[in-house]
Amino acid sequence: MPEKGNGRDPRIVAWEVTRRCLLSCKHCRAGAADHAYEGELTTDECLRVLDSLAAYSQPMIIWTGGEPMCRPDISLLVRAATDRGMRSVMAPCGALVTEKTMQILENVGVMACSFSLDGATAATHDAFRGVEGAFAHVTRAMEIARKIGMPFQVNCTVSRLNVAELPAIREQAVRLGARTLDLFFLVPVGRGKALADLALPAREMEEVLRWAFEMDRAGPITVRETCAPQAVRIWESLDRPGKHPAGCMGGRGFVFLSHTGILQPCGFLDIPCGDIRQSGYDFAKAYGESAVFRALRDPNGYGPTCGRCRFRFECGGCRARAYARTGDYLAGDSSCPLSTQE
Ligand code: SF4
Ligand code: SF4
Repeated sequence: MPEKGNGRDPRIVAWEVTRRCLLSCKHCRAGAADHAYEGELTTDECLRVLDSLAAYSQPMIIWTGGEPMCRPDISLLVRAATDRGMRSVMAPCGALVTEKTMQILENVGVMACSFSLDGATAATHDAFRGVEGAFAHVTRAMEIARKIGMPFQVNCTVSRLNVAELPAIREQAVRLGARTLDLFFLVPVGRGKALADLALPAREMEEVLRWAFEMDRAGPITVRETCAPQAVRIWESLDRPGKHPAGCMGGRGFVFLSHTGILQPCGFLDIPCGDIRQSGYDFAKAYGESAVFRALRDPNGYGPTCGRCRFRFECGGCRARAYARTGDYLAGDSSCPLSTQE
């Protein structure tokens, strides 16, 4: 997607507009469930946030949840973002996608969707997502997106549970018409804490990343990784195949906004960095005053391993994994072999 905005950070805001969700995924960072959550930003409050974002950095908005389509005002909010010059993409679970709802979302300005596929079959995907029928819903949603011409990508959370299925998951993504397969790697927070043993160790993660580079080169779809910042180091060691991988963007170009208006560096790094309500819906104020965001923007100040590594600016290490392991978000990232215990 082309860069837009006015050059200020953040360039991307992932907005958890609701925590309500129809699924019950094993790895959910939010532990989301199918019930109303107290304190959710109202429509009027969301519009004030959009005014503030548009005036500050005009980021691309990833409408997420929970299930963003559970919000009855979701199309109104996307339209308001579009009217304010901001681009929108959305991460629905699939169950609420019909030709009509997808068409409405496209009409109000959703430019692309992401759908999660964590298994190549109904048995493995449904087991991971915690709801029977989730595979049928998400594959149907992708077929609808393809039919109406909505570009979409497949997101896959990689863990020991599905690593052997990755080639088959990629085949499904190709078959269903995805433009990209985006590999996320389990970050053991929220409900995912109980799955810490299922996170791939550093060496196995590296093998998957090498496979991803190979598959990306082979086509026909893009295969990339998200939240595996050490991909930058591996990419350099392989003579830079394809596009430069993204390092950790948490708080460095990317901000997460919770359903109650709390700013975080990303959804997995559960450190409150500002309260949009308390700032009077002034995003610039909430974002600018956070000491955590300032610390994240200075990789020289990270702990001894990542902070002295030559890849600290481009990679930076996963701050959420560091925080989950040590309680210090500036510590070393245990998913990288260069990063030792601190
Ligand atoms: S802290 Fe980790 S999970 Fe969060 S954006 Fe960075 S790499 Fe991704
Ligand atoms: S030590 Fe840290 S900064 Fe260096 S490559 Fe590993 S995760 Fe990235």
